[in-house]
Amino acid sequence: MTAKSSAQRSGGTAPPALSTRVLELIASGQATSRTELAEILGAAPSTISLTVGQLLERGIVAEQGTRSSTGGRPRKVLRLGSDDEFALGADLGGRHARIGVVLPGGILAGASNVPFAIADGPEQALTKLAVTLRALAEQRGTQLLRGVGFSLPGPVDVGAGTVTLPSRMPGWNGFPVAAWLEDHFQVPAAVDNDANCMAVGEHAARHGEQRQSITVKIGSAIGAGVIVDGRLYRGATGAAGDITHVRIEEAGDRFCSCGNTGCLETVASGAALVRILRERGADVSSPGDVVRLATEADPEATRAVRQAGKALGTVLSANVNFFNPDAVYLGGILSTLEPFVAAVRGQLYDGCHPLVTKHLVIERTMLGRDAGLVGAGQFALQRALRRTLSASA
Ligand SMILES: [Zn+2]
Repeated sequence: MTAKSSAQRSGGTAPPALSTRVLELIASGQATSRTELAEILGAAPSTISLTVGQLLERGIVAEQGTRSSTGGRPRKVLRLGSDDEFALGADLGGRHARIGVVLPGGILAGASNVPFAIADGPEQALTKLAVTLRALAEQRGTQLLRGVGFSLPGPVDVGAGTVTLPSRMPGWNGFPVAAWLEDHFQVPAAVDNDANCMAVGEHAARHGEQRQSITVKIGSAIGAGVIVDGRLYRGATGAAGDITHVRIEEAGDRFCSCGNTGCLETVASGAALVRILRERGADVSSPGDVVRLATEADPEATRAVRQAGKALGTVLSANVNFFNPDAVYLGGILSTLEPFVAAVRGQLYDGCHPLVTKHLVIERTMLGRDAGLVGAGQFALQRALRRTLSASA
């Protein structure tokens, strides 16, 4: 095993070659010219020109017209070699999947919801979904399919392409999802957890305007994806952003699925809200029901949602004070509720130093329910690019 693959297997990140970083920045739409690449990467313009020149020669990157710049020469616009290439992306939920076609730069070309039952187990569920995905690929031309990316609702070992001990995916533990997809579609496949996919998708949609961000997904469970200097930060063992098991006072000694007590997840997640409202006699069985009740201004549901937002905001404020991001993006079904978002925002302003909140953007994700799907597609395109690079080096 090489040093790089062992770092990837453990969830860490090995320093990428300059050409890989250049491609990532062009693919994600964060840089469109040599000047921007040099600025972002802090490299000498001559070094960037040399790298871009090599990629142009190999047909991996192309020039497409020019763009005027203030006070300087017009800049040649760079794009990936072929912009009709695409990836298939899928964001898996418990009972449905959001699937679509993702183009270089994180552009979404159509998305839809299809039935998907995680409870069927990996073989059966993936085989069914693959039929739908294949039809989607055939509409655009399978010869242009470059990769397949899946966003999974559980902890993911990115290097191995598997889910590890997923509490919400019974029967999937250790199943080689990425290898199964590569086998089935004969293109590179990438899998990651839903919060990381959401963070990467949202970052691409905003063209990397905020280079430091935390994207929180609040659905049945809670997860966060961290972007540092424009790149996803995974941490030492791939668990960065896992704020759901932070202990908070409000949770008391309530048992959590992780085996511990008093975790944020037990009071602020969609699943927790379902439990809390049922205990108070409400007729709810899913986070969707909670959202419906709160949207109808049901006082009990609104109160519970506000308390959940406050609890999340308390945990987030510690992280925001520490990390000092440009932005906090809120995604997942609970983020569609204004009282929830307002409570998170209020708690962040209350619990953070003014220097930290001075320019802090706190918003819902722009991509909404498509953020995870776009991120998964981005991961697949990046993996395909890396394969192309290493094959033609
Ligand atoms: Zn826990």
